Amino acid sequence: MISMQSVEKHFGELHVLQNINIEVPVGQVVIVLGPSGSGKSTLCRTINRLEPIDSGAIAVDGKVLPSEGKALAGLRADVGMVFQSFNLFAHKTILQNVMLAPTKVRKQSKTEAKDNALRLLERVGIANQADKYPAQLSGGQQQRVAIARALAMNPKVMLFDEPTSALDPEMVNEVLDVMTSLAHEGMTMLVVTHEMGFARRAGNRVIFMADGEIVEDTDPESFFTHPTSDRAKDFLGKIL
Ligand code: ADP
Ligand code: MG
Repeated sequence: MISMQSVEKHFGELHVLQNINIEVPVGQVVIVLGPSGSGKSTLCRTINRLEPIDSGAIAVDGKVLPSEGKALAGLRADVGMVFQSFNLFAHKTILQNVMLAPTKVRKQSKTEAKDNALRLLERVGIANQADKYPAQLSGGQQQRVAIARALAMNPKVMLFDEPTSALDPEMVNEVLDVMTSLAHEGMTMLVVTHEMGFARRAGNRVIFMADGEIVEDTDPESFFTHPTSDRAKDFLGKIL
């Protein structure tokens, strides 16, 4: 579903992604771990071309990502992304936030988009807040809206970049629960997170990055019990 081959990227002198090779099969939940500054966000952002790459190739569902134009908009729509900051439109209601992209980009009718949005808000447990504005919701609720909004485009892949890092601790689980059910429903997911419990429970695979390189690529149990690299051991020593 996601294929990255020999991907290289620099920010000026900084070699932020170095020879990245990842093949993610349909339905796999990949957890991306690594110290701050290791390139995790940049990796996510290259997958839907929020960041261009210098060389290599990235494909989603077998389609190589073009760098611009209509085809790019189509491919971006296949990749849902949820960030640390929820980025909801403050002056639109929850329902309008979820309906916006499907009507503008997917050209869905208002009725279809509304039915779909209400179903998704139900799924993330906030259908009763549909007519409120983002500021009236808690951080956990806003992040669940952001997930519903991404799902409204009917993406083939969901990317999560530290979706719970900005939340108060008591709201973390309500967001992780939505992500866990999405994983169980077979969504292909790439999740940057520091939630190690979630990584172990919901992940099928761990990719550990350091200094722009993939240092380990293994199953969660092996990673957490027998990390092989010194950098992963050091990382786990600091967080566990
Ligand atoms: P992570 O998400 O693992 O913390 P990032 O992908 O955000 O890492 O950043 C990796 C490195 O690239 C960091 O050193 C960061 O400062 C740098 N970086 C990120 N975005 C940019 C940018 N737009 N321009 C220049 N440097 C950047
Ligand atoms: Mg980051």
